[in-house]
Amino acid sequence: MKIKSIRGTHDLFGSELEKYNIIKKNINAIAKIYNFNEIITPIFENTELFSKPLGEQSDVVLKQMYTFLDKNGDSITLRPEYTTPMIRAAISNNLLLSLPCKIFGIGPMFRRERPQKGRYRQFNQINFENFGTDDTFAEVELILIAVNFINQLIPNNNFRLNINSLGDSNTLDLYKKELSKFLNKNKKKLSLDSQTKIDSNPIRVLDTKHKEDRGVISKAPSMINFLSESALKKYENVKKYLKEFNIEYKEDFSLVRGLDYYCHTVFEIKTNSLGSQDTLIGGGRYDGLIKTLGGNNIPGVGWAGGVERIMMLMKLTKENNLTVHFAILNEKFKDYALKAYKILIENDISVYWNFKYNLKKSLSKSNELNASFVIIVGDEEYKNKKYTVKNLKTGNQNLVKIKELIKLIKND
Ligand code: AMP
Repeated sequence: MKIKSIRGTHDLFGSELEKYNIIKKNINAIAKIYNFNEIITPIFENTELFSKPLGEQSDVVLKQMYTFLDKNGDSITLRPEYTTPMIRAAISNNLLLSLPCKIFGIGPMFRRERPQKGRYRQFNQINFENFGTDDTFAEVELILIAVNFINQLIPNNNFRLNINSLGDSNTLDLYKKELSKFLNKNKKKLSLDSQTKIDSNPIRVLDTKHKEDRGVISKAPSMINFLSESALKKYENVKKYLKEFNIEYKEDFSLVRGLDYYCHTVFEIKTNSLGSQDTLIGGGRYDGLIKTLGGNNIPGVGWAGGVERIMMLMKLTKENNLTVHFAILNEKFKDYALKAYKILIENDISVYWNFKYNLKKSLSKSNELNASFVIIVGDEEYKNKKYTVKNLKTGNQNLVKIKELIKLIKND
């Protein structure tokens, strides 16, 4: 029986896992600089945590959640996104008693989407959230973190930051009415998918995936013209801080993000290098969400970044990890070679024992694994109570006593 992995899932190992670990290391370092604390929450939650706040009309809730009944009849869902679980965790653990509460997390999310390049059914996300402030510098601080993060991991990238404002709830109500009027007038030109959203959630038509809708949408009324005075002021403020921190951005008035809970600033970091799944990071403000989930009426803002998409753009630079291999010509020299192995591990030097006892096979393995040194043991070494140490990077070879091994390897 050959058991296959589940469609849309992937195993992380080798160079991909190396990239994942670099991302984790970088994100931890960045979080320290900006003082965000890590949180790890369960990968499954009660379904209601997602069903209401994400919006009954959102693709994530309607089509993509992995939801199942537990043996006692409770409905449980594998988390499709991280913001709501983080809010739930912040409320459950009284983290919102001291504000602002700045937290971040990294871990797997689950969405039953059609798998393709850059789109999986289990994928990893990084989330940064700031609960408890409506100061517009909060979104800019989060954007700074996102931009720093991308610049560190993917230098010389060609990403772009798009921003928009959805305004407050009055703005949205007014805009939705105008937009549905416009869309209804042009209904016949829209895809069936978009037609079904006109009355229930017209702004979702703006981020349609259907190319045939683009013509209509380009002529739709622009949300920016509906912002209330205070919403506009907030938006101007965000732009002011972005300029002050030299962050380039582009305004994209059709940027609405997929989930219902967003208001005011929304943003996305996109790349030209990934084809259709081109969003690396997306986020925004969600001022009513914490209250919806049973917390106090405090604002929030955050972003989510796709780890796999970032990994696809990362290039690994070969680190010179010091690793010592062994090439033993015959098994009868094994115990003698193991004396060198013992000294190396006692000195915290990374070793690779290949269990081969064959010069040719051992050397080809060492080359394949990019070893730094190979200790060669044959008749001559054994007779003279010495070891041949070959530096694979320089080609230098030395015959040394066991006492000289560590010094040679550390200094060569
Ligand atoms: P979202 O929660 O949909 O805004 O997604 C935030 C980020 O997660 C996106 O910008 C992507 O980088 C990543 N992402 C979302 N869905 C997937 C998926 N199915 N596979 C891989 N990455 C994803």
